[in-house]
Amino acid sequence: MTYAPPGVKTSLEMQVPETMHAWILGDPDQLTYGEKPTPVPKRAEVLVRIDAVAICATDLEVIHYGSPARIEGGLPFNKNFTPGHEYMGTVAALGPGVDEFSIGERVTVEIHAGCGQCKRCRQGMYTSCLNYGQNYGDVDKGHRANGFTTDGGFAEYAVNNINTLIRVPDSMSDEEATLVVTAGTSMYGLTELGGLVAGESVVVIGPGPIGLLAVAVAKALGASPVVLTGTRDNRLAIGKELGADVVINAKVEDAAARVRTLTRGIGADYVVECAGTKEAIDQAGRMVNRGGKICLAAFPHEPVEVDVANLVRNNVYVYGIRGEGKSATHRAMAFMAEKRFDATLIHTHTFALHDLPTALRYARDRVEDAIKVVVKADHRMERRVAAE
Ligand SMILES: [Zn+2]
Ligand SMILES: [Zn+2]
Repeated sequence: MTYAPPGVKTSLEMQVPETMHAWILGDPDQLTYGEKPTPVPKRAEVLVRIDAVAICATDLEVIHYGSPARIEGGLPFNKNFTPGHEYMGTVAALGPGVDEFSIGERVTVEIHAGCGQCKRCRQGMYTSCLNYGQNYGDVDKGHRANGFTTDGGFAEYAVNNINTLIRVPDSMSDEEATLVVTAGTSMYGLTELGGLVAGESVVVIGPGPIGLLAVAVAKALGASPVVLTGTRDNRLAIGKELGADVVINAKVEDAAARVRTLTRGIGADYVVECAGTKEAIDQAGRMVNRGGKICLAAFPHEPVEVDVANLVRNNVYVYGIRGEGKSATHRAMAFMAEKRFDATLIHTHTFALHDLPTALRYARDRVEDAIKVVVKADHRMERRVAAE
């Protein structure tokens, strides 16, 4: 049977099957490769054929703990839910009235499509939509956070709001395009700090994917110096390639003291905290200068004690960020399309979509120093595997 939902535009060049393969979350840490109906785009939505998906630490959280995913008001287990949120692909069908994109265009995606009607969405803060997760039953506000509140990318197809799509230039590989949303998250952190970082000192704590790309984005925005701190020399070396002027191994020296020395004793203008540990958050407070700004971009697992008096005495601003708001991903793509930095330095491994459990293990256990692990769909191959 061919896929031909009423009102949806399809093309003979890109035939869509009525059912698709998708990884489905059962109990915690239980994923099965099953079959689902191919989803149907509504108004202002398209169907994306997924070509590549990057694995994020948050996917591992969702698959193990459930949170921060939220399906029908609760944890995502045993709800026929498909995780995965850092994907790219090809537009395969258009919802009613969509003329902003054409079938066959390569796109990468933002995670969050806000409801578009709440106060935060109206401010461009759609990752903090006040109707977050309200997308079911009689409270359906049209909110989508694919891989969190709606089906995500560990599948052959997904529905995306047109506001979440960014065109991918021909010169960019599928793997690199999956990293645009990570760079977009880093860009959003710097956006929330004020964005005008040219000539200002920026310290990034934690050389995970968001931290490493925060180095790259800060450098591309003209920050100087850009300092990266972490505890693994191989990651710090990648940070240097991405534009860090100085790297500090916090196991070897007191990172806060070194930052003070580098800034003639006054501290850094901006600190982007991407490690999420108690030590790192404490360090952020000791590195920032009077009137400086801290962006918290990682989720600590436990409540963290902070020297609040220090923040108050020194007029320090603290920002939490969630995801990739204010179209930051579009700005990240502009830099990446211009090759202002090479995000592929953080891509280390590629597996087939049907081999997702291996890919997740590489990402979780950092097998062979894995940073960003990508799974790629070979749509014909996927069909064959299912037929066997
Ligand atoms: Zn992510
Ligand atoms: Zn909203």
